[in-house]
Amino acid sequence: MPKFVNRRIVLASRPHGAPTPENFRIEDAPMPEISEGKVLLKTLYLSLDPYMRGRMDAAKSYAAPVEIDAVMEGGTVAQVIHSQNSRFSVGDFVLSHSGWQSYAASDGTGVRKLNPRLAPLSTALGVLGMPGFTAYAGLLTIGQPKPGETVVVAAAAGPVGATVGQIAKLKGAKTIGIAGGAEKCAYLRDELKFDAALDHRGPNFAEALKAACPDGIDVYFENVGGAVWDAVLPLLNNFARVPVCGLISFYNATSAPAGPDRSAALMRAILVKRLTIRGFIVSDFAEQHGDFLRDMSGWIADGQVKYREDIVEGLDAAPEAFIGLLQGRNFGKLLVRVAEE
Ligand code: NDP
Repeated sequence: MPKFVNRRIVLASRPHGAPTPENFRIEDAPMPEISEGKVLLKTLYLSLDPYMRGRMDAAKSYAAPVEIDAVMEGGTVAQVIHSQNSRFSVGDFVLSHSGWQSYAASDGTGVRKLNPRLAPLSTALGVLGMPGFTAYAGLLTIGQPKPGETVVVAAAAGPVGATVGQIAKLKGAKTIGIAGGAEKCAYLRDELKFDAALDHRGPNFAEALKAACPDGIDVYFENVGGAVWDAVLPLLNNFARVPVCGLISFYNATSAPAGPDRSAALMRAILVKRLTIRGFIVSDFAEQHGDFLRDMSGWIADGQVKYREDIVEGLDAAPEAFIGLLQGRNFGKLLVRVAEE
Protein backbone atom coordinates (compact mmCIF):
# COMPACT_ATOMS: atom_id res chain seq x y z
CA MET A 1 0.00 0.00 0.00
CA PRO A 2 1.61 3.34 -1.04
CA LYS A 3 1.85 6.10 1.57
CA PHE A 4 -0.45 8.41 -0.40
CA VAL A 5 -3.22 7.36 -2.72
CA ASN A 6 -5.54 9.53 -4.70
CA ARG A 7 -9.04 8.99 -3.37
CA ARG A 8 -11.47 9.79 -6.15
CA ILE A 9 -15.12 9.45 -7.09
CA VAL A 10 -15.95 8.46 -10.64
CA LEU A 11 -19.20 8.27 -12.57
CA ALA A 12 -20.07 4.56 -12.49
CA SER A 13 -23.30 4.75 -14.52
CA ARG A 14 -25.68 7.36 -15.85
CA PRO A 15 -28.78 8.02 -13.71
CA HIS A 16 -32.31 7.52 -14.93
CA GLY A 17 -34.17 10.15 -12.94
CA ALA A 18 -32.73 11.07 -9.55
CA PRO A 19 -29.11 9.96 -9.04
CA THR A 20 -28.47 7.14 -6.57
CA PRO A 21 -25.28 6.13 -4.73
CA GLU A 22 -24.82 3.33 -7.31
CA ASN A 23 -24.19 5.93 -10.01
CA PHE A 24 -20.91 6.79 -8.25
CA ARG A 25 -17.85 4.68 -7.43
CA ILE A 26 -15.31 5.58 -4.78
CA GLU A 27 -11.84 4.28 -5.58
CA ASP A 28 -8.19 4.69 -4.66
CA ALA A 29 -5.87 5.47 -7.55
CA PRO A 30 -2.11 6.06 -7.72
CA MET A 31 -0.95 9.59 -6.95
CA PRO A 32 -0.90 11.81 -10.06
CA GLU A 33 2.63 12.45 -11.34
CA ILE A 34 3.85 15.87 -12.33
CA SER A 35 6.40 16.89 -14.93
CA GLU A 36 7.93 20.20 -16.07
CA GLY A 37 5.32 22.99 -16.07
CA LYS A 38 2.92 21.21 -13.73
CA VAL A 39 1.80 21.43 -10.12
CA LEU A 40 0.41 18.82 -7.75
CA LEU A 41 -2.70 20.04 -5.95
CA LYS A 42 -4.14 18.75 -2.69
CA THR A 43 -7.89 19.35 -2.59
CA LEU A 44 -9.16 21.18 0.50
CA TYR A 45 -12.75 21.95 -0.52
CA LEU A 46 -14.90 20.50 -3.28
CA SER A 47 -17.92 22.47 -4.45
CA LEU A 48 -21.15 20.55 -5.13
CA ASP A 49 -23.41 22.34 -7.61
CA PRO A 50 -26.68 21.57 -9.41
CA TYR A 51 -25.02 21.72 -12.88
CA MET A 52 -23.24 18.45 -12.08
CA ARG A 53 -26.52 16.61 -12.57
CA GLY A 54 -26.45 17.64 -16.24
CA ARG A 55 -22.86 16.41 -16.63
CA MET A 56 -24.01 12.93 -15.53
CA ASP A 57 -26.23 12.66 -18.64
CA ALA A 58 -24.96 11.95 -22.14
CA ALA A 59 -27.41 14.47 -23.63
CA LYS A 60 -25.97 17.37 -25.64
CA SER A 61 -25.72 20.53 -23.54
CA TYR A 62 -23.60 23.65 -23.23
CA ALA A 63 -20.76 21.54 -21.77
CA ALA A 64 -19.48 18.02 -22.44
CA PRO A 65 -20.73 15.20 -20.19
CA VAL A 66 -18.51 13.36 -17.73
CA GLU A 67 -17.53 10.04 -19.31
CA ILE A 68 -18.30 6.76 -17.57
CA ASP A 69 -15.38 5.81 -15.23
CA ALA A 70 -14.08 9.40 -15.36
CA VAL A 71 -13.66 11.54 -12.24
CA MET A 72 -16.74 13.65 -11.49
CA GLU A 73 -16.19 17.27 -12.46
CA GLY A 74 -16.16 20.07 -9.89
CA GLY A 75 -14.66 23.31 -8.68
CA THR A 76 -12.12 23.03 -5.87
CA VAL A 77 -10.00 25.02 -3.49
CA ALA A 78 -6.61 23.34 -3.26
CA GLN A 79 -3.09 23.79 -1.98
CA VAL A 80 0.02 23.40 -4.10
CA ILE A 81 2.12 20.58 -2.61
CA HIS A 82 4.69 20.18 -5.45
CA SER A 83 5.50 22.66 -8.16
CA GLN A 84 7.39 22.52 -11.41
CA ASN A 85 5.60 25.62 -12.66
CA SER A 86 7.21 29.02 -12.06
CA ARG A 87 3.79 30.68 -11.47
CA PHE A 88 3.12 28.60 -8.34
CA SER A 89 5.02 27.86 -5.13
CA VAL A 90 4.54 25.06 -2.65
CA GLY A 91 2.00 26.25 -0.07
CA ASP A 92 0.00 28.47 -2.46
CA PHE A 93 -3.77 28.24 -2.14
CA VAL A 94 -5.60 28.13 -5.45
CA LEU A 95 -9.02 27.95 -7.04
CA SER A 96 -9.03 25.07 -9.51
CA HIS A 97 -11.36 22.63 -11.21
CA SER A 98 -9.83 19.38 -10.03
CA GLY A 99 -13.04 17.41 -9.61
CA TRP A 100 -14.10 14.89 -6.98
CA GLN A 101 -10.63 13.70 -5.94
CA SER A 102 -8.14 14.34 -3.20
CA TYR A 103 -5.14 15.17 -5.44
CA ALA A 104 -4.75 16.40 -9.02
CA ALA A 105 -1.98 17.37 -11.40
CA SER A 106 -2.44 20.60 -13.32
CA ASP A 107 -0.52 22.66 -15.87
CA GLY A 108 -1.99 25.78 -14.26
CA THR A 109 -4.60 26.46 -16.93
CA GLY A 110 -7.63 28.05 -15.28
CA VAL A 111 -5.96 27.92 -11.86
CA ARG A 112 -6.10 31.18 -9.85
CA LYS A 113 -4.17 31.99 -6.69
CA LEU A 114 -6.20 32.86 -3.59
CA ASN A 115 -5.18 35.10 -0.71
CA PRO A 116 -6.47 33.51 2.52
CA ARG A 117 -6.03 36.84 4.35
CA LEU A 118 -8.62 38.55 2.12
CA ALA A 119 -11.49 36.09 2.61
CA PRO A 120 -12.05 32.56 3.94
CA LEU A 121 -10.81 30.13 1.28
CA SER A 122 -14.17 28.38 1.00
CA THR A 123 -15.88 31.56 -0.22
CA ALA A 124 -14.00 31.24 -3.53
CA LEU A 125 -16.48 28.46 -4.33
CA GLY A 126 -19.56 30.32 -3.06
CA VAL A 127 -20.38 33.95 -2.53
CA LEU A 128 -17.05 35.12 -4.02
CA GLY A 129 -17.01 32.36 -6.60
CA MET A 130 -19.09 30.96 -9.43
CA PRO A 131 -22.52 31.06 -7.65
CA GLY A 132 -22.02 34.61 -6.38
CA PHE A 133 -20.88 35.75 -9.82
CA THR A 134 -23.90 34.04 -11.38
CA ALA A 135 -26.22 36.03 -9.12
CA TYR A 136 -24.38 39.30 -9.71
CA ALA A 137 -24.09 39.13 -13.49
CA GLY A 138 -27.49 37.57 -14.16
CA LEU A 139 -29.39 39.95 -11.92
CA LEU A 140 -27.62 43.17 -12.83
CA THR A 141 -27.20 42.55 -16.58
CA ILE A 142 -30.54 40.93 -17.39
CA GLY A 143 -32.76 41.63 -14.37
CA GLN A 144 -31.72 45.28 -13.94
CA PRO A 145 -33.73 45.87 -10.73
CA LYS A 146 -34.78 49.47 -10.01
CA PRO A 147 -35.69 51.11 -6.70
CA GLY A 148 -39.24 50.23 -5.65
CA GLU A 149 -39.57 47.29 -8.05
CA THR A 150 -40.48 43.79 -6.88
CA VAL A 151 -37.86 41.07 -7.35
CA VAL A 152 -38.71 37.40 -6.78
CA VAL A 153 -36.14 34.61 -6.57
CA ALA A 154 -36.49 30.87 -5.87
CA ALA A 155 -33.94 28.47 -4.35
CA ALA A 156 -33.45 31.63 -2.31
CA ALA A 157 -31.57 30.04 0.60
CA GLY A 158 -28.88 28.69 -1.76
CA PRO A 159 -25.76 30.61 -2.80
CA VAL A 160 -27.21 31.99 -6.05
CA GLY A 161 -30.67 32.89 -4.75
CA ALA A 162 -29.52 34.37 -1.42
CA THR A 163 -27.05 36.60 -3.25
CA VAL A 164 -29.63 37.66 -5.84
CA GLY A 165 -32.04 38.74 -3.10
CA GLN A 166 -29.42 40.72 -1.20
CA ILE A 167 -28.12 42.52 -4.30
CA ALA A 168 -31.71 43.36 -5.30
CA LYS A 169 -32.23 44.82 -1.82
CA LEU A 170 -29.05 46.88 -2.22
CA LYS A 171 -30.51 48.29 -5.42
CA GLY A 172 -33.63 49.42 -3.55
CA ALA A 173 -36.01 46.68 -4.69
CA LYS A 174 -38.60 44.82 -2.64
CA THR A 175 -37.37 41.23 -2.43
CA ILE A 176 -39.44 38.07 -2.15
CA GLY A 177 -37.61 34.77 -1.57
CA ILE A 178 -39.02 31.31 -2.24
CA ALA A 179 -37.49 28.36 -0.42
CA GLY A 180 -38.37 24.90 0.90
CA GLY A 181 -39.43 24.84 4.56
CA ALA A 182 -40.01 27.17 7.50
CA GLU A 183 -36.39 27.22 8.65
CA LYS A 184 -35.04 28.46 5.32
CA CYS A 185 -37.85 31.04 5.06
CA ALA A 186 -37.11 32.36 8.58
CA TYR A 187 -33.43 32.69 7.62
CA LEU A 188 -34.34 34.74 4.54
CA ARG A 189 -36.55 37.10 6.52
CA ASP A 190 -34.58 37.39 9.74
CA GLU A 191 -30.94 37.13 8.65
CA LEU A 192 -30.94 38.28 5.04
CA LYS A 193 -33.74 40.86 5.45
CA PHE A 194 -35.86 39.73 2.51
CA ASP A 195 -39.22 41.55 2.63
CA ALA A 196 -41.07 38.23 2.49
CA ALA A 197 -40.24 34.54 2.21
CA LEU A 198 -42.57 31.80 1.03
CA ASP A 199 -42.40 28.00 1.20
CA HIS A 200 -42.95 26.58 -2.29
CA ARG A 201 -44.16 23.34 -0.73
CA GLY A 202 -46.71 25.12 1.48
CA PRO A 203 -50.47 24.94 0.86
CA ASN A 204 -51.83 27.63 -1.50
CA PHE A 205 -48.36 28.69 -2.57
CA ALA A 206 -49.64 30.50 -5.67
CA GLU A 207 -52.15 32.56 -3.62
CA ALA A 208 -49.49 33.37 -1.02
CA LEU A 209 -47.16 34.61 -3.77
CA LYS A 210 -49.91 36.79 -5.22
CA ALA A 211 -50.61 38.27 -1.78
CA ALA A 212 -46.90 38.97 -1.24
CA CYS A 213 -46.65 40.81 -4.59
CA PRO A 214 -49.56 43.30 -4.60
CA ASP A 215 -47.80 45.39 -7.27
CA GLY A 216 -46.93 42.40 -9.46
CA ILE A 217 -43.42 41.15 -10.26
CA ASP A 218 -40.85 43.22 -12.17
CA VAL A 219 -37.91 40.79 -12.01
CA TYR A 220 -38.14 37.04 -11.57
CA PHE A 221 -34.74 35.35 -11.26
CA GLU A 222 -35.51 31.83 -12.48
CA ASN A 223 -33.64 29.06 -10.68
CA VAL A 224 -36.21 26.28 -10.55
CA GLY A 225 -39.03 26.25 -13.16
CA GLY A 226 -42.04 23.98 -12.64
CA ALA A 227 -44.72 24.93 -10.12
CA VAL A 228 -42.91 28.09 -9.02
CA TRP A 229 -42.76 29.42 -12.58
CA ASP A 230 -46.45 28.56 -13.04
CA ALA A 231 -47.27 30.74 -10.03
CA VAL A 232 -44.97 33.58 -11.14
CA LEU A 233 -46.02 33.93 -14.80
CA PRO A 234 -49.51 35.44 -14.21
CA LEU A 235 -48.00 37.99 -11.81
CA LEU A 236 -45.35 39.37 -14.17
CA ASN A 237 -45.78 43.07 -14.96
CA ASN A 238 -45.45 44.69 -18.36
CA PHE A 239 -41.76 44.88 -19.29
CA ALA A 240 -40.76 42.39 -16.55
CA ARG A 241 -37.31 40.78 -16.88
CA VAL A 242 -36.64 37.09 -16.30
CA PRO A 243 -32.99 35.98 -16.15
CA VAL A 244 -33.28 32.21 -16.71
CA CYS A 245 -30.42 30.84 -14.64
CA GLY A 246 -31.50 27.31 -13.72
CA LEU A 247 -34.42 24.88 -13.89
CA ILE A 248 -33.61 22.52 -11.05
CA SER A 249 -37.14 21.14 -10.75
CA PHE A 250 -36.57 19.41 -14.14
CA TYR A 251 -33.00 18.17 -13.67
CA ASN A 252 -34.09 14.66 -12.65
CA ALA A 253 -37.05 14.53 -15.06
CA THR A 254 -37.29 11.56 -17.41
CA SER A 255 -40.19 12.88 -19.49
CA ALA A 256 -41.93 16.15 -20.38
CA PRO A 257 -44.23 17.57 -17.66
CA ALA A 258 -47.81 16.24 -17.66
CA GLY A 259 -50.64 18.41 -18.97
CA PRO A 260 -51.31 20.42 -22.11
CA ASP A 261 -48.61 22.23 -24.08
CA ARG A 262 -48.73 25.78 -22.73
CA SER A 263 -46.17 27.30 -25.04
CA ALA A 264 -48.87 29.30 -26.90
CA ALA A 265 -50.00 30.94 -23.63
CA LEU A 266 -46.39 31.66 -22.74
CA MET A 267 -45.66 33.26 -26.13
CA ARG A 268 -48.80 35.36 -25.79
CA ALA A 269 -47.68 36.58 -22.34
CA ILE A 270 -44.23 37.43 -23.75
CA LEU A 271 -45.90 39.45 -26.51
CA VAL A 272 -48.64 41.33 -24.69
CA LYS A 273 -46.57 42.02 -21.55
CA ARG A 274 -43.41 42.72 -23.59
CA LEU A 275 -41.42 40.37 -21.35
CA THR A 276 -37.66 39.90 -21.53
CA ILE A 277 -36.85 36.25 -20.84
CA ARG A 278 -33.17 35.54 -21.32
CA GLY A 279 -31.17 32.44 -20.51
CA PHE A 280 -27.52 32.74 -19.59
CA ILE A 281 -24.49 30.75 -18.55
CA VAL A 282 -22.26 32.58 -16.08
CA SER A 283 -19.24 32.34 -18.39
CA ASP A 284 -21.10 34.65 -20.83
CA PHE A 285 -20.22 37.51 -18.48
CA ALA A 286 -16.53 36.77 -17.95
CA GLU A 287 -15.56 40.40 -18.65
CA GLN A 288 -17.50 41.48 -15.51
CA HIS A 289 -15.50 39.25 -13.17
CA GLY A 290 -13.21 42.01 -11.92
CA ASP A 291 -16.16 44.28 -11.14
CA PHE A 292 -17.85 41.39 -9.35
CA LEU A 293 -14.86 40.65 -7.11
CA ARG A 294 -14.49 44.35 -6.23
CA ASP A 295 -18.21 44.93 -5.51
CA MET A 296 -18.92 41.67 -3.72
CA SER A 297 -15.81 41.90 -1.50
CA GLY A 298 -16.94 45.37 -0.47
CA TRP A 299 -20.51 44.31 0.23
CA ILE A 300 -19.34 41.37 2.34
CA ALA A 301 -16.90 43.57 4.27
CA ASP A 302 -19.71 46.11 4.94
CA GLY A 303 -22.09 43.37 6.07
CA GLN A 304 -24.46 44.18 3.20
CA VAL A 305 -24.17 40.68 1.77
CA LYS A 306 -24.15 37.67 4.08
CA TYR A 307 -23.57 34.06 3.18
CA ARG A 308 -24.12 30.65 4.66
CA GLU A 309 -22.17 27.46 4.01
CA ASP A 310 -23.24 23.85 4.46
CA ILE A 311 -20.01 21.84 4.81
CA VAL A 312 -19.97 18.04 4.83
CA GLU A 313 -16.89 16.18 5.99
CA GLY A 314 -14.78 13.89 3.79
CA LEU A 315 -14.80 13.11 0.08
CA ASP A 316 -16.74 9.86 0.58
CA ALA A 317 -19.75 11.94 1.71
CA ALA A 318 -19.97 13.73 -1.66
CA PRO A 319 -22.43 11.42 -3.48
CA GLU A 320 -25.06 11.50 -0.70
CA ALA A 321 -24.63 15.24 -0.24
CA PHE A 322 -25.04 15.83 -3.96
CA ILE A 323 -28.17 13.66 -4.11
CA GLY A 324 -29.53 15.74 -1.21
CA LEU A 325 -28.75 19.02 -2.98
CA LEU A 326 -31.20 18.14 -5.75
CA GLN A 327 -33.88 17.54 -3.09
CA GLY A 328 -33.21 20.72 -1.09
CA ARG A 329 -31.45 19.02 1.86
CA ASN A 330 -28.60 21.56 1.75
CA PHE A 331 -28.96 24.83 3.62
CA GLY A 332 -26.48 27.27 2.10
CA LYS A 333 -23.55 26.74 -0.25
CA LEU A 334 -22.83 23.00 -0.27
CA LEU A 335 -19.15 22.14 0.13
CA VAL A 336 -17.17 19.03 0.95
CA ARG A 337 -14.17 19.46 3.24
CA VAL A 338 -11.77 17.01 1.60
CA ALA A 339 -8.77 17.92 3.79
CA GLU A 340 -8.06 20.36 6.61
CA GLU A 341 -6.67 23.74 5.57
P1 NDP B 1 -28.79 25.64 -4.22
O1 NDP B 1 -27.76 25.49 -3.18
O2 NDP B 1 -29.83 26.69 -4.07
O3 NDP B 1 -29.44 24.20 -4.36
C1 NDP B 1 -30.51 23.95 -5.14
C2 NDP B 1 -31.82 24.23 -4.39
O4 NDP B 1 -32.89 24.14 -5.31
C3 NDP B 1 -32.16 23.21 -3.34
O5 NDP B 1 -31.51 23.44 -2.13
C4 NDP B 1 -33.68 23.39 -3.22
O6 NDP B 1 -33.92 24.40 -2.25
C5 NDP B 1 -34.07 23.96 -4.59
N1 NDP B 1 -34.97 23.03 -5.30
C6 NDP B 1 -34.70 21.77 -5.66
N2 NDP B 1 -35.77 21.25 -6.30
C7 NDP B 1 -36.70 22.23 -6.34
C8 NDP B 1 -38.02 22.31 -6.88
N3 NDP B 1 -38.60 21.27 -7.52
N4 NDP B 1 -38.71 23.46 -6.74
C9 NDP B 1 -38.16 24.52 -6.12
N5 NDP B 1 -36.91 24.51 -5.58
C10 NDP B 1 -36.20 23.36 -5.71
O7 NDP B 1 -28.13 25.81 -5.68
P2 NDP B 1 -27.34 27.03 -6.34
O8 NDP B 1 -27.63 28.29 -5.61
O9 NDP B 1 -25.94 26.61 -6.53
O10 NDP B 1 -28.01 27.10 -7.79
C11 NDP B 1 -29.32 27.63 -7.97
C12 NDP B 1 -29.72 27.50 -9.44
O11 NDP B 1 -28.81 28.25 -10.23
C13 NDP B 1 -29.70 26.08 -9.99
O12 NDP B 1 -30.81 25.92 -10.85
C14 NDP B 1 -28.43 26.03 -10.78
O13 NDP B 1 -28.47 25.06 -11.80
C15 NDP B 1 -28.38 27.44 -11.32
N6 NDP B 1 -27.05 27.91 -11.72
C16 NDP B 1 -26.90 28.36 -13.01
C17 NDP B 1 -25.73 28.89 -13.44
C18 NDP B 1 -25.63 29.46 -14.82
O14 NDP B 1 -24.53 29.77 -15.26
N7 NDP B 1 -26.74 29.61 -15.53
C19 NDP B 1 -24.53 28.89 -12.57
C20 NDP B 1 -24.79 28.45 -11.21
C21 NDP B 1 -26.01 27.95 -10.83
P3 NDP B 1 -35.32 24.51 -1.44
O15 NDP B 1 -35.14 23.71 -0.20
O16 NDP B 1 -35.42 25.96 -1.21
O17 NDP B 1 -36.38 23.95 -2.32
